[in-house]
Amino acid sequence: MTGSFRVGVVGAGYVGLATGACLAHIGHKVACVDRDEERVRGLVSGVMPFYEPGLEELISRGLRGGRLSFAGLAGLGGLVAEADVIFIAVDTPQGEDGSADLSSVTAVAGEIGRALAEPEARARERPLIVANKSTVPVGGGDYLSVSIREGAGGGGGGGFLVVSNPEFLREGSAIYDSLFPDRIVVGSDSRQALDAMRALYEPVIEQSFPTELDPRPKVAVPFVTTDLVSAEMIKYAANAFLATKVSFINEVANLCELTGADVLEVGYGIGLDERIGPRFLNAGVGWGGSCLPKDIAALRAVAGEHETPLLDATVAVNERQRERVILKLEQALHSLRGKRVALLGLSFKPNTDDLREAASLEIASALDSLGASAVGYDPVAGKAAAKRLPSLEVVFDPYEALAGAHAAVVVTEWEEMRGLDLGRAAALMQEPRALVDGRNAIDPAAALGAGLLYRGFGRG
Ligand code: NAD
Repeated sequence: MTGSFRVGVVGAGYVGLATGACLAHIGHKVACVDRDEERVRGLVSGVMPFYEPGLEELISRGLRGGRLSFAGLAGLGGLVAEADVIFIAVDTPQGEDGSADLSSVTAVAGEIGRALAEPEARARERPLIVANKSTVPVGGGDYLSVSIREGAGGGGGGGFLVVSNPEFLREGSAIYDSLFPDRIVVGSDSRQALDAMRALYEPVIEQSFPTELDPRPKVAVPFVTTDLVSAEMIKYAANAFLATKVSFINEVANLCELTGADVLEVGYGIGLDERIGPRFLNAGVGWGGSCLPKDIAALRAVAGEHETPLLDATVAVNERQRERVILKLEQALHSLRGKRVALLGLSFKPNTDDLREAASLEIASALDSLGASAVGYDPVAGKAAAKRLPSLEVVFDPYEALAGAHAAVVVTEWEEMRGLDLGRAAALMQEPRALVDGRNAIDPAAALGAGLLYRGFGRG
């Protein structure tokens, strides 16, 4: 297979939409289906279901150019009959026991199986490639094959090949990461499927597509082909490593506080070592979001009886960082009862409105239970936060959040927080005007100079 592919994407979430929009952008004909009909209706009329920079523009170009379309689940049957590749990009949230909840993946696999058994799909000339982007436990690819077969009534219908194609994009830069990835990983037992995936990704691998984005120097993107289970393990191991790196620097930050060292200097100094690298060495309130917490929980669940001391410590350090926010507030305010605390930034990281496992929600709940009132501001996640946490007062201007607050916490390092007018903040707040900088995003000297009681993480 070469040239333009017919592609289906099941699941129009962060991963599915970025994947679909980018594959359309590089020249394929893409149809995204989702069971959420309201979401589909919105997408057809240009309404994005969440905030992701650059997504709306790319989707509208795809729609205008006729290379991108959206449909409800009813559209899946036609795709199974006609598409070269169908991506699965549905959610795999954390189940009650920590393991990945595969019910959405199972449902999609069943639907694909049923459609494969229909006469239109039986007439296919080539097997359908089912490429899984949802993060599933190691062995999930085999489970997917079994579920498709079951859906097809025990056979393979028109024939299919399963591929694991783990996704590494970051919310907030999903489009950039899809077009300029560090690597593409594809796992399958079928050479035919691996070759087809390489041909599909050719424009990304060769960086030969048109773009106005600021691209990296044009070097070929590594295309890693491996077996199914290794591809699945690469995804989990990558996320576990990233979380461990953050917990590591947080542990160092806590030692910096004991010794007077500055973790920013330390992070810079160690990050220049190519074996370590500078990224993910930012101390603060720790990691959150839709991926790291659940993927680490799933990896620990897979381990079962086997011990995972490093992962356990990674999680424990992260939980402690949230507690350290409260501790720093208590040190500054003595008692939190009756105090007003502004939370600056609510999403789990900048440039997204995603609140899944966001530190802000945990901190707001803790403040509520300690008798403090929390008022939150976020450039895009405010409305969603108000729905999630009724005890949190949400305002739509950072200075409104700061007005009358005894303390403020920088929870998410949006550019807006970095550029805060500290003098105005201090004038609006009331004693002791504590600023807990949960992302080390503010210059301590400037904050102290403005009259704020600055408390960073590991800043000596
Ligand atoms: P999401 O919750 O944003 O979107 C999932 C979409 O799938 C929703 O629109 C939902 O309606 C749809 N869906 C669920 N079940 C369906 C079904 N049976 N049929 C059709 N549509 C269905 O999820 P996401 O954040 O895009 O994550 C998808 C997968 O990718 C997860 O496994 C996640 O771990 C993984 N992942 C996510 C990211 C990320 O940054 N969000 C990064 C890498 C990998």
